[in-house]
Amino acid sequence: MVDVSNAIDKPESAEADSAEKVFADFPKAVLVLEEDGTIAYLNAKAASVYGKTKEQLLGKKPWERWPEEAGEASNESADRKKLTEVQEHLAAIVESSEDAIVSKDLNGIIRSWNRGAERIFGYTAEEIVGRSIATLAPPEVANDIPRILAQIARGERVEHYQTKRRTKDGRILTVSLTVSPVRDASGRIIGASKVARDITLREQQEAALRETNAALLRSNSDLQQFAYSASHDLKEPLRMVAAYVEMLKRKFGGALGPSGDEYIRYTVEGTSRMEQLLADLVAYTHASTLGEEPKEDIDAQKILKAALGNIEAAIQESGALITHTELPRVRMHEFQLQQVFQNLIANSIRYRSSETPRIHVAAERRGKEWLFSVQDNGIGIDRQYKEQIFGIFKRLHSAAEYPGTGMGLAICERLIQRAGGTIWVESELGRGSTFFFTVPIREG
Ligand code: ADP
Repeated sequence: MVDVSNAIDKPESAEADSAEKVFADFPKAVLVLEEDGTIAYLNAKAASVYGKTKEQLLGKKPWERWPEEAGEASNESADRKKLTEVQEHLAAIVESSEDAIVSKDLNGIIRSWNRGAERIFGYTAEEIVGRSIATLAPPEVANDIPRILAQIARGERVEHYQTKRRTKDGRILTVSLTVSPVRDASGRIIGASKVARDITLREQQEAALRETNAALLRSNSDLQQFAYSASHDLKEPLRMVAAYVEMLKRKFGGALGPSGDEYIRYTVEGTSRMEQLLADLVAYTHASTLGEEPKEDIDAQKILKAALGNIEAAIQESGALITHTELPRVRMHEFQLQQVFQNLIANSIRYRSSETPRIHVAAERRGKEWLFSVQDNGIGIDRQYKEQIFGIFKRLHSAAEYPGTGMGLAICERLIQRAGGTIWVESELGRGSTFFFTVPIREG
């Protein structure tokens, strides 16, 4: 078991590095003295407090250097008490570490072994101190050890090196190692200290996550494939129904009586609605399976203009007043952004209140993304439906009240997600709605 007081008694021993491990970056000066008062260890902060290098101070007695600071004999014993407290604290920190903290000499012989090492590898300090570190290496990574030792001998540090180690009971662990050279007072490398973290569980979890992700991607693409073929295959018989109903109407229109004509009208309406639903379903699956990432930025202002052009009839007919702030260039496919603008603005017009529709499109930079908003003074949305409306075929109204398929926002959500952003709404019934979406800003 590591006793840090050892490290303090014998500064040249590898254990001294334990103190360095714990106190190297400690924001207060830490000075560890030997029984005779010489400095056994000091951290970087202590050296800077005294305005000297570590080498200038190690092995020296503080009061020989600064007689004016030398205390009375009684102070000395108080200091010694403090020192013991620091030592105990230090030992407790090393002992309670979750990680294995191990020191070895340049031949790879283990010199110290904390409780973390005991817990991870199964050996007690009594069993393993004095044996070679190679005891822990399974054959397939046996070359690790001489390589790491050679690196240490050259004064280099090994950081977060991922490798395999074998426990006492033969289990193979994945560990992340950080190994640093340990020097004696004269700066000569005399060994290494090693912190080993057991990352077996983390690695297993990551592998499971990768597996789940791959399965999810597969099932997602299967589903899209299914929706795509289904809608294509459904189109054909639908077209047939529409064509024959049309013929019925032409040939027997009037002969079937008023009810017959009405039924035919319903059938025609039904088929055209079905056609619209299928077209939207195809658009949705397309939105989900965009192939290539966009390579360059596009001008959102130009895209907004194009979107407005596509719904000009609705704008004219409703007398909608549309304003916008200056819009940025963003990394998206043109048709993605155009479709989003078009769907949101068409909705703002369709779900208008009795007032003239006023629609404002804005964009502002928010950290590493652009935040776009489309605000209207329409009928608003009950808070409880804020999320539902983005679902496929989700509508809050009948087709008789407001035409639509319930796919517009689902398509917007997919398009925005594909661009790496998010979309949401803030609204209150009767008070208009603001749809927000973000687009990440790509570096370079
Ligand atoms: P659709 O408009 O075809 O029904 P959407 O997915 O575009 O499908 O919208 C889903 C529902 O969200 C709509 O039925 C409507 O109730 C509500 N909605 C969308 N945009 C607005 C808006 N600007 N103002 C009020 N309600 C809206």
